[in-house]
Amino acid sequence: MPNFDYEAPTSLAVALELLAQPGEVRPLAGGTDIIDQLKSNRRNADLVVDLKRIPELSSLESNGSGLRIGSAVSCTDVHNFTAKNSGYAALSESSELVGSIHIQNRASVGGNVCNAAPSADTIPALLIHEAIARTASASGEREIPLIDFFAGPGQTVLAKGEILKELVLPAPSANTASAYLRFIPRNEMDIAVAGVGSLIEVDPSTKVVTKARIALASVAPTPVRAYAAEEYLEGTAIDEATINKTANLAVQAAVPITDVRGSAEYRKELIRVLTNRTLTICLERLA
Ligand SMILES: Cc1cc2nc3c(=O)[nH]c(=O)nc-3n(C[C@H](O)[C@H](O)[C@H](O)COP(=O)(O)OP(=O)(O)OC[C@H]3O[C@@H](n4cnc5c(N)ncnc54)[C@H](O)[C@@H]3O)c2cc1C
Repeated sequence: MPNFDYEAPTSLAVALELLAQPGEVRPLAGGTDIIDQLKSNRRNADLVVDLKRIPELSSLESNGSGLRIGSAVSCTDVHNFTAKNSGYAALSESSELVGSIHIQNRASVGGNVCNAAPSADTIPALLIHEAIARTASASGEREIPLIDFFAGPGQTVLAKGEILKELVLPAPSANTASAYLRFIPRNEMDIAVAGVGSLIEVDPSTKVVTKARIALASVAPTPVRAYAAEEYLEGTAIDEATINKTANLAVQAAVPITDVRGSAEYRKELIRVLTNRTLTICLERLA
């Protein structure tokens, strides 16, 4: 591996000073992506700044207004925390799918977001909750809706010296359910050929959907929302027929490539099937 300097500050202020230094300065959370990228020369670094010892970035809290996930919190901690709260089922499911138990213990949800892989498993679950990315740099903080955070495969809109500080998810209202499913050719340790996160809020007396959010992984240069499907489902009574129509509409948001994992047509069909299944699971969860 090429040589680089390494710092592990214990305060956010010191980390931000280090990140503002000239040259290629890269943050590290769990290191499960960045170490391999440095080793294989897909990324380079003069200095790596380890964020894991910074208390603000390792805090995970929920209150009446929502969930706050520090950017260095591990997938295991996010899974365990959200597993107890049915309002965040899709996030709980997706954080438990990242790699293996060993990977989940190291890897952060923030790192999954900042690595910006179109296939990243936690991103659709965050998008359906309309997560906000709160960032920090030596010149201050800003908030970016997560849907606007991605600039292309492996690219974010973060400026030099700017890091993701935390992800903020508004509290889901009552009568809301969510689910995340992905397709991989084996049971674990593989990248999603396609993934779908769905969230619905349903009026229990009429079964009319008052809110629908559907987000897709691995079918575009960045994670995407299936807006046409969402618009159709909102205001519609949910049943098998409307789920089928929504799943067909979700395919419109998919602009996949053909690669070794699957053809573009195959990926579109996966989006249809996974949208159908995640919405059906949501409905079952609300019963
Ligand atoms: C064997 C294996 C299996 C895997 N399986 C999956 C899988 O099933 N699904 C999946 O989605 N991913 C998978 N991954 C990829 C990886 O584990 C995840 O993307 C993980 O969540 C990355 O988190 P991390 O904390 O390790 O990130 P790191 O490697 O520390 O960082 C990733 C990137 O984000 C940047 N970064 C980290 N934190 C910040 C921050 N706060 N602000 C700005 N930039 C930051 C880093 O500089 C780097 O570019 C797998 C990886 C391995 C090695």
